[in-house]
Amino acid sequence: MTDLATVLEIWEPVIGLEVHIQLATESKAFSASATGFGAPPNSLTDPTVLGLPGALPSFNVRALELALRLGVATGSKIRARCRFARKHYFYPDLPKGYQISQYDEPLCEDGAVEVMVAGGASGPLERRKVRLQRIHLEEDAGKNTHHGTSSLVDLNRAGVPLCEVVTLPDLHSAADAAEYMRALHRLVRYLGVSEGDMEKGQLRCDANVSVRRRGEDRLGTRTELKNINSFRFVQKAIEHEIGRQVRILEDGGAVERETRLWDASAGVSQPMRSKEEIADYRYFPDPDLPPLTVDGATMRKVITTMPELPAPKLERFVREYGLTFDDAATLTAERELADFLDAAVRAAGNGALARPMASFMLNELLRVLDGRPIGQSPVTPVALAELVGLVASDVISGKIAKDVFTSMWETGDAARVIVERDGLRQISDEATLRSMCEQIIADNPKQVELYRAGKESLLGFFVGLVMKASDGKANPGLTTELMKKLLAGS
Ligand code: ADP
Ligand code: MG
Repeated sequence: MTDLATVLEIWEPVIGLEVHIQLATESKAFSASATGFGAPPNSLTDPTVLGLPGALPSFNVRALELALRLGVATGSKIRARCRFARKHYFYPDLPKGYQISQYDEPLCEDGAVEVMVAGGASGPLERRKVRLQRIHLEEDAGKNTHHGTSSLVDLNRAGVPLCEVVTLPDLHSAADAAEYMRALHRLVRYLGVSEGDMEKGQLRCDANVSVRRRGEDRLGTRTELKNINSFRFVQKAIEHEIGRQVRILEDGGAVERETRLWDASAGVSQPMRSKEEIADYRYFPDPDLPPLTVDGATMRKVITTMPELPAPKLERFVREYGLTFDDAATLTAERELADFLDAAVRAAGNGALARPMASFMLNELLRVLDGRPIGQSPVTPVALAELVGLVASDVISGKIAKDVFTSMWETGDAARVIVERDGLRQISDEATLRSMCEQIIADNPKQVELYRAGKESLLGFFVGLVMKASDGKANPGLTTELMKKLLAGS
């Protein structure tokens, strides 16, 4: 059995993800050192980060606020009072010999992340919920890099606040797991909880994978794939692991409970260690930190500043703006992009312009932005609304609008100013259009003969010539109508 699709008729994958998200705080979770990526190694440290004797942690409340935003956005139960715990293990990137984490009292429990799924050709959108076991706060470890026979330790990342978001074993395909990751990534960026830059390791995923025969209730033995740092690798690593486990089971073997490391360049995973028992971590409440309390004022602040979330926004773009699922998904992928369209619709004061404005964003604006954030666009939502308004009221043609847009992008001038300055108003005056059409007819007797003999596909040819002669300014609708009449006449 080689083909994954055939394998999946018999075997059901079960996947649970643990995602670590770096919180966008300016200082570390338990001390005043700055956070930051790319600073000289070991420059962002202090006695607490280094685990020097006598140094005491003090919790950064900004991290709590960010974690609460994620907790509220996922509809989690929030624990009003919870303790930090020490999780002990030995590794060079962990100078204290333990990580400050949360164990039996996580800040958030029983939430869910909503993943929007297109409902086929015309079917309704589906909001799928991936249930969360918990979200807890912890600190990041440093980073080891290995060079030949020596290893270097950089503690700049040590002590950076993290949220660990743990799902129930609710996912049943590699593609769904990747889609969940994308949804979570989008969510934390919307909330301002994390920049979620995966290349900088700000969002990292451990995937727990098992398989069982379809119809079986009991979960199979799982393996854990560590530190996967892209959406594509999540999918690849899980697919590979499903195949590996099925092969073992079909050969009559047993899957071993172990942690494996995904090697993206080789496209295979390697065993890293057999899973430590929970007891090995010797969790206990951190005596240096008072319990974390969440008061009403903090909760109110978090709740009242909650933005519209990506899933409901996507749904609204489809319902109110009449966008396709794919277009709505692209335009809600980043909050700034969605805000841009909302602002343009407000400026236009006309919901009917939402769709043409959205397609302008998708076809023109995103193209010239070429990956840069929309905040850098010299064309504002108000300016886009004016431009599309000119098309809607027949002042300029859709084709000219693209040139006007280019000019707006280059000069920062308003659409109306450019249209007047460059004389781009659409020609909708019937007498003018008629004489242009007559000229084209006079100039092309052969084609006219063919058309009148039944080759009606030539209509586009004539209209095209009028468009060309008018520098694209002839109103295409009126020109087509007139041309038809004139060709049919005499
Ligand atoms: P640990 O902290 O040891 O990794 P947890 O019980 O916290 O263990 O589970 C971690 C993740 O593993 C969760 O996302 C959970 O949904 C997932 N998980 C648990 N059992 C299975 C299983 N049999 N197959 C796949 N995923 C599983
Ligand atoms: Mg784990």
